[in-house]
Amino acid sequence: MFDDQVACLFCQVKNDHKSSHCSHCGMALAKQHPEGKARRSFFVKAFWGIVIFCLVMMYYLPR
Ligand SMILES: [Zn+2]
Repeated sequence: MFDDQVACLFCQVKNDHKSSHCSHCGMALAKQHPEGKARRSFFVKAFWGIVIFCLVMMYYLPR
């Protein structure tokens, strides 16, 4: 199955998804979906935190 293999980003060799490093060149393989999703939600939270911070500062700072 395609989902059971991860393509190496450097040499494109297919590796088992359980292995953390490429069996051909030894480079670290891309992480699985859950971590990418968590990282994405972190950026969304950081983005809204910055937006809210900017809005607060716009009203807080005297003109
Ligand atoms: Zn590789």
